[in-house]
Amino acid sequence: MTDIQNNILFFQKQLPSDVDLVAVSKTKPNEDILQAYEAGQRIFGENKIQEMSQKQATLPKDIEWHMIGHVQRNKVKYMASYVSLVHGVDSIKLLKEINKQASKHQRTIDCLLQVHIAQESTKFGFDEREMEHVFGEISENNLTNVRVVGLMGMASYTSNMEQVKSEFLVLKKLFDRHKNASSLSVLSMGMSGDYQLAIACGSTMVRVGSLIFGERKPLVQ
Ligand SMILES: *Cc1c(COP(=O)(O)O)cnc(C)c1O
Repeated sequence: MTDIQNNILFFQKQLPSDVDLVAVSKTKPNEDILQAYEAGQRIFGENKIQEMSQKQATLPKDIEWHMIGHVQRNKVKYMASYVSLVHGVDSIKLLKEINKQASKHQRTIDCLLQVHIAQESTKFGFDEREMEHVFGEISENNLTNVRVVGLMGMASYTSNMEQVKSEFLVLKKLFDRHKNASSLSVLSMGMSGDYQLAIACGSTMVRVGSLIFGERKPLVQ
C-alpha cells in the first residue's frame, strides 16, 4: 500500500457519505493518479485544460475529470468532449461558450458558478450582489447544453479560521437561497487546509490535493 493509496482510504473512511472527494492532481504525474485510482478514487481535479487533456487521453476512461481552475474561453473546446464538471464558471460569456462547445459534441456539461467569497481581490467569481441576477440571465439565454448544478467558492488564504468560516457560511447561505428554484445540488468548498470546516458549513464536495498527493513544487515563474 502506497502513501497515496492510504490517503485515499483515509478520506473514504472519514468523509460523510454525502460529500464527494475531488482528488486534485494538478502538477502530479500519471503514476500518482493511477495509485489513487487503484484505491478506488474516480474523480480528479485539474486547473489547466491542456494538462488535464493530456492526462485524460492516456488514463482510464471511467475517470471523471473536473476543471477546478480559471477557464479561458478559447480553451473550452479542448475539454468539451469529456469534462464532467466545470467548477469555475465566473461569467455568462463563459457559460455560453461551454454551451456552444458542448452542443458540438451533443453533450450537456455540468457547471458550478464560482462565487467570490474571499477578501483577496485576486480570486475569481461572481460577487454576492451579481448572484441575485445571474440565474435570471442564465434562464433568459436558454442554454440547453449546460446545466448549472451548484456553486463553488474559495475562502481567503489565511490561518484565521473564523474568517474562513464566515466566508463559507456566506456561500452556504447563497446556495440555500437559490437551491430550490434553480435545482442546485452541489456546493464545492473546502481544500486540504479547511475541508473539515467546509463540511461543517454544508459543503457537499471537497477539493483536496496536497493531503492526498503531498506538497506541490512551487511554480517557477
Ligand atoms: C489546488 C487547488 C485545490 C487543492 O489545494 P490543496 O490545498 O492542495 O488541497 C483546491 N481547489 C482549487 C481551486 C485549487 O486550485
